[in-house]
Amino acid sequence: MPNHLIAGLKARAPHPDRRAIETAGGRVLSYRDLDALSGRLARALVALGVEPGDRVAAQVEKSVEALALYLAAVRAGAVYLPLNMAYTRDELAYFVSDAAPRLLVVDPARHGDLAGFAGGPAAPRVETLGPAGDGTLMEAADGLDPDFADVERAPGDLAAILYTSGTTGRSKGAMLTHDNLLSNALTLVDLWRFGPDDVLLHALPIFHTHGLFVATNTLLAAGGAMLFLPRFDAADMLRLMPRATAVMGVPTFYVRLLAEPGLAEAARNLRLVVSGSAPLLADTHAAFRARTGHAILERYGMTETNMTTSNPYDGPRVPGRVGPPLPGVGVRVVDPAGGGPLDAGQTGMVQIRGPNVFAGYWRNPEKTAAEFTLDGWFVSGDLGQFDATGSLAIVGRAKDLVITGGYNVYPREVEDAIDALPGVEESAVIGLPDADLGEAVVAVVVRAGDGGPDEAALLAGLDGRMARFKRPRRVIFVDELPRNAMGKVQKAALRARFSS
Ligand code: ATP
Ligand code: MG
Repeated sequence: MPNHLIAGLKARAPHPDRRAIETAGGRVLSYRDLDALSGRLARALVALGVEPGDRVAAQVEKSVEALALYLAAVRAGAVYLPLNMAYTRDELAYFVSDAAPRLLVVDPARHGDLAGFAGGPAAPRVETLGPAGDGTLMEAADGLDPDFADVERAPGDLAAILYTSGTTGRSKGAMLTHDNLLSNALTLVDLWRFGPDDVLLHALPIFHTHGLFVATNTLLAAGGAMLFLPRFDAADMLRLMPRATAVMGVPTFYVRLLAEPGLAEAARNLRLVVSGSAPLLADTHAAFRARTGHAILERYGMTETNMTTSNPYDGPRVPGRVGPPLPGVGVRVVDPAGGGPLDAGQTGMVQIRGPNVFAGYWRNPEKTAAEFTLDGWFVSGDLGQFDATGSLAIVGRAKDLVITGGYNVYPREVEDAIDALPGVEESAVIGLPDADLGEAVVAVVVRAGDGGPDEAALLAGLDGRMARFKRPRRVIFVDELPRNAMGKVQKAALRARFSS
């Protein structure tokens, strides 16, 4: 039996001399080099006591070595568990006690901070890995034989535990199997037509499903190359873009790129521009198309399900819609009140089934049971609506639904109407406690430049565009909306800030 994910990613492996990764600084690794690096790291993991099924947690800066560590952990039969560098020591302590990794790899600068933290019988061994490939882990790997016989793993064995972004509450550990990851990567290679001549501009973090799995697994499975930036930097993006055929990003990437005068020139060789992780504003889609000629392809997914829907490669990419389900993936929109699947045009809970859907929440069978229907569909927590062509729109999250005076208000609908008003850049609609209505609709609005509408003008602009119960009771102007690393608006933070 092979190692299911690694063997699958290698099935279409290009010549070992072909470029796999090139860093922003110009360091180039061929497929052979990447294999040798992950092989040495896999040997180091085994030497450090990592056994098949053990968790290997990493809170490290994005680097080629960090990516090789992911591959090494999977090759060694372990379960890779990447963590956002932004997590504090206390947050890290939560993840470590929850996931009980055998090995924890941290940034060298962080190491002293962990004194005492790693004590106790079940404490992980701690090693370091820095952004320049420095630290004790690479020291342990240096000089080891780069040939490593991949540990056998079945399709249903775990390859990774990824914690969700924590947008709606505490992050949950999603258990992802070898086949969850491989099936999704192979589907995306075909759907998005990736091949060995593709070069992906990679500026996403690699602790999240988007940058680690959607971007990396897909390119490796296609035998293509990645231009690897440590983080999003508009100048670096523009400098490297002419050598890329594809970009994957979160909506904020595209908003920021639109501020760059050289964008159209830089984008001339791209064949594919993908957006996901948060809703792409229709304005951004239109502006990007006007400037570069590229219709951004928006897709929808989540940590638990990998990618689920995508706008078509050929055919209309409709702003505000995330497209039909991927081949082999089932998506239905169901009446949240317990009824069956809804017709096109009706809003309900998005449920997902298929080889992409995770194996459950780590050590949390109650939560897992609560989020699956009896007939095996995963309840996504997102509200959506199909159109007559079978293309899905994400209307928002069930937890963000505002129930005011007994009526349901879908924030996205109100946000879209506000965003369309002159002088408005973007908005977030939330529900705040209200003695009379239960919840009151409140709009938090960012104006475009100076002289946008005041509250009265904004509300007047909404007159006749929506039922009165949907109209905001209050408008709050802010300079910017709070966002996390993936560009997701933090509505819980907004509710906390303004509910008094
Ligand atoms: P948590 O589950 O901890 O609250 P999270 O759901 O934000 O956090 P992720 O798994 O990173 O964590 O994000 C998945 C969510 O991102 C989806 O459920 C959906 O709400 C949102 N999302 C992803 N892609 C899109 C998209 N194209 N349009 C709108 N929303 C999207
Ligand atoms: Mg979620």
